[in-house]
Amino acid sequence: MSKVLVVADNAKVTAELVAAAGSAVVVESKSARAVAEYAKNNSFDAVFVAATMDGKEFAARIAIALDSGIITDAIAVDSNFVTTQSNFGGSYTVKAKVNRGIPVITLRPNSVEPASQIPETIKLEGDDNSLVTIKSVKPKVKGARPELAEAKIVVSGGRGIDGDWSAVEKFADSLGAAIGASRAAVDAGWCSHDLQVGQTGKSVSPDLYVACGISGAIQHKAGMQTSKNIVVINKDPEAPLFEIADFGIVGDLASVLSKASELINARK
Ligand SMILES: Cc1cc2nc3c(=O)[nH]c(=O)nc-3n(C[C@H](O)[C@H](O)[C@H](O)COP(=O)(O)OP(=O)(O)OC[C@H]3O[C@@H](n4cnc5c(N)ncnc54)[C@H](O)[C@@H]3O)c2cc1C
Repeated sequence: MSKVLVVADNAKVTAELVAAAGSAVVVESKSARAVAEYAKNNSFDAVFVAATMDGKEFAARIAIALDSGIITDAIAVDSNFVTTQSNFGGSYTVKAKVNRGIPVITLRPNSVEPASQIPETIKLEGDDNSLVTIKSVKPKVKGARPELAEAKIVVSGGRGIDGDWSAVEKFADSLGAAIGASRAAVDAGWCSHDLQVGQTGKSVSPDLYVACGISGAIQHKAGMQTSKNIVVINKDPEAPLFEIADFGIVGDLASVLSKASELINARK
């Protein structure tokens, strides 16, 4: 059986990496070099890391320390470490395998069902010497909504919201969802870039993605089409996003969302 080393992230994402690995040893460390040494000294067959911003940066440094190949943004990994990626706006499904060293693979959050248990985490000491010293880090103040990249449900607004988030927010809160946005909404200054979904924003794979007033440009699809269920609300029946919708509603988003929020809240 293969030996997989999982780099710990938050509990849910770590449980997903453990599930993808089958069985795994979980380590926590600030040092990519320490992780690489541990993987080499203990003859691991692969290293799995979360495909988050920080995870991918850390994974790249582990791969350099191991002198190994790396695959990022996998949505599945088989027992021979052949990965599946959804590339170029989802128009290509790519199967790839690292052919040098101990493969380092980053897996997108929400791609697999989390394991029910996480093995005890081993702490690896060390801090990589860096040419850059970080003087201070100020975490962004988080709201009550879940983190976009990890949320089970995402409700996104596009140009169709016309700058008014109230219906989207009310609906998202009725479902405990994260809020996302198209680039048109971000470029219009209606929200910050960290809510953007798509090629130049975040990639998400929630159980449910609700797109409100978003036409379905390839660059938007690139960040959301691996969602398990896609609901599209658009007043234009010809909007391209309907092509990948599991459920589509043609109508004005404000009225559809306010009716839906009412019904959901009534059923709680
Ligand atoms: C290099 C590059 C990178 C890009 N990266 C991204 C990216 O990461 N993410 C991204 O999203 N885009 C990205 N884009 C932009 C992308 O091409 C589109 O321009 C953008 O996604 C359009 O956003 P939208 O669907 O909100 O707006 P539009 O295309 O203008 O669509 C608005 C939709 O709202 C509907 N609508 C209007 N009013 C209502 C209403 N009251 N009720 C219901 N529906 C309504 C309309 O029918 C329409 O379908 C990128 C583009 C380039 C060139």
